[in-house]
Amino acid sequence: MMKLFKYLKKYTFFIILAITFVTFQGLLNLYLPDLMGDIVNKGVTRGDVDYILSVGGKMLFVTLLNILSAIISTYFAAKVAMLFGKDLRSMVFEKVMNFSLYEIDKFGTSTLITRNTNDITQIQMVVFMLLRLVALAPVTAIGGTIMAISKSPKLTMVLLVAIPVMSVAVYFIAKYTMPLFRSMQKKIDRINRILRENLTGVRVIRAFNKTKYEKQRFEEANEDLTQTALKVNRVFALVFPLIMLIMNFTIIFLFWIGAVQVDKGALQVGDIMAVMQYVLQILFSFIMISMIFIFIPRASASAERVYEVLTTQSKIKDPEKSLLPKGKGNIEFKNVTFYFEGAKEPALQNISFEAHPGEFIGIIGSSGSGKSTLVNLLLRFYDVSEGEILIDGVDIRKITQKELRKRISLVPSRPVIFSGTIEDNVRIGKDDATEEEIIEALKIAQAWEFVSKLPKGIKTEVSQGGTNLSGGQKQRLAIARGIVGKKDIYIFDDCFSALDFKTDSKVRLALREKLKDSTVIIVSLRVATIMNSDKIIVLDNGKIVGIGTHKELMKTSQVYREIVSSQLSEEEIA
Ligand code: ADP
Ligand code: MG
Repeated sequence: MMKLFKYLKKYTFFIILAITFVTFQGLLNLYLPDLMGDIVNKGVTRGDVDYILSVGGKMLFVTLLNILSAIISTYFAAKVAMLFGKDLRSMVFEKVMNFSLYEIDKFGTSTLITRNTNDITQIQMVVFMLLRLVALAPVTAIGGTIMAISKSPKLTMVLLVAIPVMSVAVYFIAKYTMPLFRSMQKKIDRINRILRENLTGVRVIRAFNKTKYEKQRFEEANEDLTQTALKVNRVFALVFPLIMLIMNFTIIFLFWIGAVQVDKGALQVGDIMAVMQYVLQILFSFIMISMIFIFIPRASASAERVYEVLTTQSKIKDPEKSLLPKGKGNIEFKNVTFYFEGAKEPALQNISFEAHPGEFIGIIGSSGSGKSTLVNLLLRFYDVSEGEILIDGVDIRKITQKELRKRISLVPSRPVIFSGTIEDNVRIGKDDATEEEIIEALKIAQAWEFVSKLPKGIKTEVSQGGTNLSGGQKQRLAIARGIVGKKDIYIFDDCFSALDFKTDSKVRLALREKLKDSTVIIVSLRVATIMNSDKIIVLDNGKIVGIGTHKELMKTSQVYREIVSSQLSEEEIA
């Protein structure tokens, strides 16, 4: 947690204000019992009403000051804690945005969400507590002891018993609750993960009648978290009676010893009352300190989780100086082999091929053959394990990711639709696209026919995830987004499969015209989609088993022939 606290530095001024006023509050607290002792000793015992009123007025004034200091210090403590939380959330968010797919795979989505919300809230809470108590507790404990001793050293001796007893109790409580807090964060992660899976997969869960099973899965995780939380709360339920017991015993002893002293004439009644208040204040400050000790472990578990995100270096690093390849989008894969993290078998092995501007390259292969992986490597979502990928003769690891991705357009196999209008969704492909350009892109993607029929046209709102659109409609929007901007390289990863044959061929025909100067890679499971390509690459199990035109491959590649004969009729093949 200390490591995160360095980000508090810029709030030093507010922190000083918070601590100054809380110290002031502590000092004023110490003054009150003294005044009260005076009232009893000099006012009540002598029946001096004027004295009682004047000192009483003073007490009222001190109390007002006290409240004021408390308000000011709380204000600044809260301000610092909230700003700190805000900073952490932005930092985590920015970090995660820069993660490559390695890191996203490694953490998993739900824990990244928990870390950026719940965990940071825990840290924020402890920062607030620390700012409020870090000064108040010591001032009260030390100042209170001094004041009490000045009234009556004998009476103050009760603390010698009370404090050790209290400390032992607090130690055992903290020891028991710390690990529980740690595991609670993990359990919150799990609940979030199940909830997320359920919400994103709601259609599948309903369709397979798994609602009951999922409900049970959630119930279990929920129950698990509840049990842990209950354990913690049970301990806390014991804490207060225990502390009250210790306190009340202390007071009984105090009065007992005090009464004897008063009897002897060695002490005044007002002093007993003052000492009693000091002792209570001191013990309360011990409780506050112990509270911090209980909450700090929880927050530090959270801080570790946040810190882990902040210090994870993206495996994919930008070069110091970006080389700007001169050319129009020549792609060359040179003996590329790629292993996923921890995988024994390579997902891609010895991939070599070239693609040039003006060419349409088709990639075909059964599902799981590594087509999407190949595309991900080209966009540098992952780095190759062996070999290299060149764009216009430059290794893509020597180009910044931003420069690289500026030149490539990707339409992924699963269309991603964001909440907003249709126009917003297409414009992601080109920030400054005009309405005409958007409509043109929609037309090429064969999306205009359904968009133009919508009451608000391109201004129509789509819901998050595009649930108010059909699969093919989403896919066509994604294609429009992919082609709206001018790029050197266009990649269509299996995105024609949600389209019917007629639309598929219409889109491709339009693309041929629009993208005739660019390098175009079309990935598909469907022969019809790629058979007219200038070059077809056949992938099988991560290896290239054939390269050539449809005609050539029909002669040379057994795998290709099998795919073709399973999909096309005799006359189509001919
Ligand atoms: P395709 O797009 O041809 O259907 P992919 O390229 O998506 O196939 O996957 C190729 C292989 O890599 C599959 O065996 C798949 O299990 C594996 N794979 C894909 N993504 C990951 C990942 N993030 N982590 C580990 N293995 C993966
Ligand atoms: Mg794929």
